[in-house]
Amino acid sequence: MEKRTELYRGKAKTVFTTDNPDRLILEFRNDTSAFDGEKVEQLDRKGMVNNKFNNFIMSKLEAAGIPTQLDQVLSDTETLVKKLSMIPVECVIRNYAAGSLVRRLGVTEGQQLNPPTFEQFLKNDALHDPMINESLAISFGWATAEQLAKMKELTFKVNQVLQALFDEAGMLLVDFKLEFGVDSAGNIVLGDEFSPDGCRLWDKETRKKLDKDRFRQGLGGVVEAYEEVASRLGVPL
Ligand code: 5GP
Repeated sequence: MEKRTELYRGKAKTVFTTDNPDRLILEFRNDTSAFDGEKVEQLDRKGMVNNKFNNFIMSKLEAAGIPTQLDQVLSDTETLVKKLSMIPVECVIRNYAAGSLVRRLGVTEGQQLNPPTFEQFLKNDALHDPMINESLAISFGWATAEQLAKMKELTFKVNQVLQALFDEAGMLLVDFKLEFGVDSAGNIVLGDEFSPDGCRLWDKETRKKLDKDRFRQGLGGVVEAYEEVASRLGVPL
């Protein structure tokens, strides 16, 4: 599958068209960004680790009956995916309080959330991904009520599958963000990526942070932490 023209360059990935109008190539770069692109660094091996990690997780989700855009890994940093029309609504589930929830509501970091919370954000860097809700998404035409219901159902299903997976590997899945798209048949399909760039993972015993918060908070050892997560899950790097 020949890589063709660049379709879109995001903060950490580049999307290319291919000969096949139903397939795109995702290239996972070493660029690591935080605060809507205000802080950007190149971290050696990160593109490779996230590409392989994403492939591992998406395959597990697919096996659990969750439709994903994954087709096949092409190289260390590139994956062939189904072309989706992306919905600009980020779906976030939290099992423990952290990040923007702590800042917004003044709650204690690490507090367990029972049941887990579900939030939606508009994907828009210039506006700093503002929190939205179903009513706004429908009125502005970002997604239909049916699409939003499916996205919510699938996000909770992903939480179930991945909580168990990380728990067995000695980690807490604190929270995560998913993005969905619509395929050529009109189905809601999980898109974008699942990697430590878009979720929070803590060691179950020590609560050591093993995700992008290491970068956001300048804790160092960012890619080393991602590699530790991969190794605990048995992801071949
Ligand atoms: P928070 O709302 O606390 O900033 O983020 C909640 C979870 O969603 C975290 O795991 C965070 O990494 C992820 N997340 C939220 N927005 C984004 C985003 O725009 N990009 C990425 N990579 N992750 C995000």
